[in-house]
Amino acid sequence: MNDPAATGLGERFHRLIRNTGPISLTHFMGESNAHYYNGRDPIGSPGDFVTAPEISQMFGELIGLWLADMWIRAGRDEPVHYVELGPGRGTLAKDALRTAARYGLEPRVHFVESSQALKDVQLLAVPGAIWHDDLSTVPTEGPVLIVANEFLDALPVRQLVRMENGWRERMVGLADDQLAFVAGGQSMDAAVPVEWRDAEVGTILETSPASAAIMFEVAGRLNDQGGAALFIDYGHAEMTPGSTLQAVREHRKVDPFAAPGEADLTALVDFATMARIAQSRGVRHLGTVTQGDWLRALGIETRAKNLADTAPQYREEIEIAMKRLTHPRQMGELFKVMGLAAPNWHGGAGFPASEG
Ligand code: SAH
Repeated sequence: MNDPAATGLGERFHRLIRNTGPISLTHFMGESNAHYYNGRDPIGSPGDFVTAPEISQMFGELIGLWLADMWIRAGRDEPVHYVELGPGRGTLAKDALRTAARYGLEPRVHFVESSQALKDVQLLAVPGAIWHDDLSTVPTEGPVLIVANEFLDALPVRQLVRMENGWRERMVGLADDQLAFVAGGQSMDAAVPVEWRDAEVGTILETSPASAAIMFEVAGRLNDQGGAALFIDYGHAEMTPGSTLQAVREHRKVDPFAAPGEADLTALVDFATMARIAQSRGVRHLGTVTQGDWLRALGIETRAKNLADTAPQYREEIEIAMKRLTHPRQMGELFKVMGLAAPNWHGGAGFPASEG
């Protein structure tokens, strides 16, 4: 709370708003998260939140298996690139690459990461990786195997809100000298699909321009270079109205305005829109399924049994981890796995459109 840098960011927002008026939520969320991730490693029980690869090695292993299967079916093209967006502590990559190597898949490793603190951790986990600020510098030769777990949810969202006098952008301003949501001054009616124009006052529509841009780029790469992608995140299958913005600190939900840059800001991923963007560039949407179903289809139960047989003293831990990852009331249902593949790539274990 009395972190001077945090005060710095909060103060910066106050000053900016006082001088130039309310800022967009995109601006607020983008800067807050850049500050948040850049200065720390937030992942794990002493941090702010725990992610699937940190719960069990089985998560990364099954992803590695999936990627190897895709690559083998496509003819084992080389060079081949493993590209992970927002790799966190590098754990997923380490587990996935170890498994993939058993099937002869030893790709070049590219990490798209903005946080200096996390790059330092990733370097220890995967020393051979090459770091990128965005996808633009990833090589354009050879297929790409793209993985992103809890990456899209960290990208800034934009919100529109229906007021008495029509649609406005939902901005961040000041009320009683505290950060607060305020309605923007300009009419946004033209930015809202016709079927939403007359929605009830208070209705919020949320979009993620940054996620859309990334999906467009990923799809372009798959199309041009061949390859496949897995996007895993918590989200909904259809675009639904309402704000899904939330702030998490020390494993608890907090007010997003309480300490800018000190809590993880996320929003649910709109997978239907993501899939539409990918398909608009000719990429195959293999499907978007729940994490529980996908991990079971990939054989998590067998993997858990094998692990427990070799290390019986960890049997209970392994079972608890599997349950956390797959149970509908834990991560099994809220989290979704979206699979994408280049037009001429076949397979896609665990997805409905896997044949062909
Ligand atoms: N995939 C990891 C980490 C998830 S947290 C895991 O499952 O554990 C989100 C990750 O995305 C972090 O590594 C964070 O630093 C990174 N990140 C967030 N916004 C980013 C951006 N705009 N560009 C690149 N990386 C970003």
